[in-house]
Amino acid sequence: MRDVVIIGSGCAGNTAAVYSARANLKPLVIKGHEPGGQLSLTTLVENFPGFPEGINGPDLVENIKKQAENFGAEYREGAVEEADLSKRPFRLKIDGEWLETRTLIVASGAKARWLGLPNEQKLIGHGVSSCATCDGFFYRDKKIMVIGGGDSAMEEANFLTRFGKEVMVVHRREQFRASKIMMDRARNNPKVKFVTSTLVEDVYDTGKGLVTGVRLRNVATNKVWDEEVDGFFVAIGHIPNTAVFRGQLETDPDGYILSKGGARTNIVGVFHAGDVQDRVYRQAVTAAGMGCMAAMEAERFLEAEGH
Ligand code: NAP
Repeated sequence: MRDVVIIGSGCAGNTAAVYSARANLKPLVIKGHEPGGQLSLTTLVENFPGFPEGINGPDLVENIKKQAENFGAEYREGAVEEADLSKRPFRLKIDGEWLETRTLIVASGAKARWLGLPNEQKLIGHGVSSCATCDGFFYRDKKIMVIGGGDSAMEEANFLTRFGKEVMVVHRREQFRASKIMMDRARNNPKVKFVTSTLVEDVYDTGKGLVTGVRLRNVATNKVWDEEVDGFFVAIGHIPNTAVFRGQLETDPDGYILSKGGARTNIVGVFHAGDVQDRVYRQAVTAAGMGCMAAMEAERFLEAEGH
């Protein structure tokens, strides 16, 4: 029987592990499908406080893990296959084996939705990105492309005009899903250009190891052409990793956990941290902060129950 099990080993999960390990609760962290979370997909992180020269995303998340291990946190490969949160102790099935825990911190994150282009994954961190706040800075005076027609795409396009000399928004339809205010802001920005009814067929150049251009296709005319770009930002939404808790943890229609204040969920003893609940900020530092909150709440809960 565990006191604390943490699902997810990104910034949120690892920070929850530091706090609960330091409180002597010997947390078990289930690493999940993408150990290290979104940070493990980035390169230089320049906005995490405390690193004046910046720090590589994978190093940052690994450092937090080591810090947690120094206090006695345990890490285990694997992902949750089934969960029974109907009574305490909670039960989780991991790699065919059931384990029990008094409290649970869900920090399983949200994965960025990608286009599924042949070369997209190979160029992540080398021109392909899903986070303008993280990577926009590297494209000063460069040509940037943003894919998507929702609020995220408009927000990222506007933000990226601070850096790029031109930001081209490519959207697959004529109509945009983005709200009027976000749309107007992008339309009134002289650096933003729109290309509609257009799909991206592939992104180049894996040979050079960085993005140099993309191939586009207009779905109305079938015209295919190449466009030179330096930064390729995919903003077509995120998918929170909550499928395994469906019907147990309350979520919004898109699957993000609904917070019941602080780090609390609808189930007493189950707490949330990071992108699995946060669709607004999605930063390493906010995820770390939520990890701290979830661990403190778990600790107080256990203490109140006399453990
Ligand atoms: P979203 O609203 O689901 O929009 C996703 C966009 O990506 C849509 O335009 C969609 O095209 C496009 N798309 C999806 N799959 C695609 C594919 N395979 N190929 C090409 N295009 C694809 O997602 P979001 O923009 O991330 O926003 C999510 C939620 O957060 C929304 O509720 C939004 O309002 C909110 N949000 C708010 C703010 C803000 O207010 N500041 C900022 C960001 C997000 P279609 O339109 O053709 O489906």
